[in-house]
Amino acid sequence: MSVTFAQISDCHLFAEPSKCHHDANVYQHLCRVLHDINQRDEISFIVFTGDLTQDHSEESYQLFIGAFSAIIKGKPLYYIAGNHDEPLLLTRYFQGEQIYQDKTIELNAWQVHLIDTKSETPAGKWHEREENRLANVINSDKAQCLLMHHHVKDVGYFIDKHHVVNQHDFVQFTDNYKNICIVACGHVHNALTMTLGDIPFYTCPATSIQFDKTVATVANSKLPPGYRLFTLNPDKTFMTEAIFLAE
Ligand SMILES: [Zn+2]
Repeated sequence: MSVTFAQISDCHLFAEPSKCHHDANVYQHLCRVLHDINQRDEISFIVFTGDLTQDHSEESYQLFIGAFSAIIKGKPLYYIAGNHDEPLLLTRYFQGEQIYQDKTIELNAWQVHLIDTKSETPAGKWHEREENRLANVINSDKAQCLLMHHHVKDVGYFIDKHHVVNQHDFVQFTDNYKNICIVACGHVHNALTMTLGDIPFYTCPATSIQFDKTVATVANSKLPPGYRLFTLNPDKTFMTEAIFLAE
């Protein structure tokens, strides 16, 4: 059976639900995205790829979990930290029935891995500890879907200053695994489709704001909030689509 999951990313919440980020009410945007996901029966789980918070407050974590628990019914949540997030706070607040700590999701023909790229700076890192973990869990009989916060290939605008700094190490890693079928990330606040050599590489629209690619700093392109869907098929083919909410 095919399995469909939703990737959400880059919520950038504040302690106050009314506060705006570059003219966007990021809390309302997140709630709208969650409602849209909840009403799609085909989605079996949700992966959050980081940057929950903008103001780094504990209240922002509580808002995220409150919205998730109130809106989402019967769709488990998996997660990783973004550069803005505090892993200890994620662990503290990401508790409850529908929330899973697992970083590898086992499906019949696929493995979905959530990979930590957080470093001491806003930029990302391909960590040796994550490479070693994957080397232990990757099943050569299954297709591989790798999800992370930071981008492992430059996208051509200002966010590239916060890319994965050792992209070459990641490429070397992927050379050892011919069954890596999808690499995807958040962080760049746009829905892009690219390739890493032969491997399809996708980025996720933010639930908060989409970046204006023509400006050298954070600016709101005024595209609506969104998320990404992946459908993984038993024959190891897949489909993906970026969903933007109607105004
Ligand atoms: Zn980020």
